[in-house]
Amino acid sequence: MSALPKEALRRGWCPSTLRPMETGDGWLVRLHPPGNALSPRQLGRIAELAQEHGNGLVEISARGNLQLRGVTAETHPALVEALLSEGLVDEAEGDGPQRLTLTSPLAGHDPSDLIDAAALAAAIEASSRSIPGLPAKTCIVVDGGGTLSLDHVAADLRVVAIGSGKVAIGTPRGRWLGPAAPAAVPDIVASLLHGFAAGLPTFAAVRRMRDLPEAGLSGMIAKCGLAETQPPARRPAPKRAGVPSLGPSCFAVLIGLPFGRSDAATLAQLGAAAEARGSTTIRFSPWRGLAFVDLDWIQAQALVGLADELGLITQNTDPRLSVQACAGAPACLRGETRASRDAATLAEAAAPLLAAGLKLHVSGCVKSCANPGPADLTLVGHEGHYDAVFSGTTRDKPAGRLDLSQIVQRLQPGQDFHTRLTSGRASGPKV
Ligand code: SF4
Repeated sequence: MSALPKEALRRGWCPSTLRPMETGDGWLVRLHPPGNALSPRQLGRIAELAQEHGNGLVEISARGNLQLRGVTAETHPALVEALLSEGLVDEAEGDGPQRLTLTSPLAGHDPSDLIDAAALAAAIEASSRSIPGLPAKTCIVVDGGGTLSLDHVAADLRVVAIGSGKVAIGTPRGRWLGPAAPAAVPDIVASLLHGFAAGLPTFAAVRRMRDLPEAGLSGMIAKCGLAETQPPARRPAPKRAGVPSLGPSCFAVLIGLPFGRSDAATLAQLGAAAEARGSTTIRFSPWRGLAFVDLDWIQAQALVGLADELGLITQNTDPRLSVQACAGAPACLRGETRASRDAATLAEAAAPLLAAGLKLHVSGCVKSCANPGPADLTLVGHEGHYDAVFSGTTRDKPAGRLDLSQIVQRLQPGQDFHTRLTSGRASGPKV
């Protein structure tokens, strides 16, 4: 394999199979399985490759992409060779998006959806993924309008079913277009994205649609031929883990990975069990988990039982779903604390605060791999302790440096962290 371009390794690059990103524990290789789906056997094979060519840690990103960690310059060529030759990834040419669309992991299977969001997403990929000049991070949410709402997922464009055979298209700054028939949407989205890409040279610093100035956004909207309309009503938050029904005697199992991460051996066990129970399709969710579809009740319960035994998330109320944490030490050489292990302790200690909406980020060092943005409470690893930052990022001024047990204690009712996180005063986070 030819040498990687220098820019392919810089942080902030949108990584892929061919262009990994350098992180604290080696190269991060992001995989885009064809159709965002794998068979249980393919999941097992990816787990094998993660052990063979990486450090055995596998992640699911907030856009539902698989990521292998700890890959090296020496192991990367053989990993790529295996992934491509075995059809485990769908790697697009060039610097543009590897995947444009994001759907619910149950798209195409969920009877509560008003349209077939999986089919529409595939049509949008075909019409728009190769539009020249699109930034690699461009994201289009395709939401079938069913129970698994994607309202919370950040996107450049949002295609949302608002009735049977009817969608609205959301653009930045809350401007909605429509209604449109699903069959017309791929061309409309292509028109919007052509307008966005064509405008980028004029607005040098802009990489996301939300950063377009008003004139650029209005020009793009005017050319697509759809009138502006009311935004769709917001829907209840989706259940990120559990056993949703897909129809008479047909179920899915949604399983979360704690902090979006698992060791390869755990995933291999899950894949083998799913295969033994007749599962054929695994999808990946923006809640950093897996979805097993089209199971009967007994198969579904057996899978949940195994996932529980493996320490994975099977209940929507699990506080770990609300915590962002990187791997930390010892998996990451730059880790100054055991961020992932400590996050599990903190999730338990702060469960009532998390249930009330607290955003907690636990980072093994200042690099902030798990969450570049702010959180109500950010804990930054420093020589075995944590710097505690309220309403900020890992680079903001900390309120103090504490060890794990001190933080746990101060998060309890009546203690200062708890009070600060629940007081709602202007200087502190609101939960
Ligand atoms: S933030 Fe975490 S994963 Fe990233 S370099 Fe620091 S310790 Fe490693």
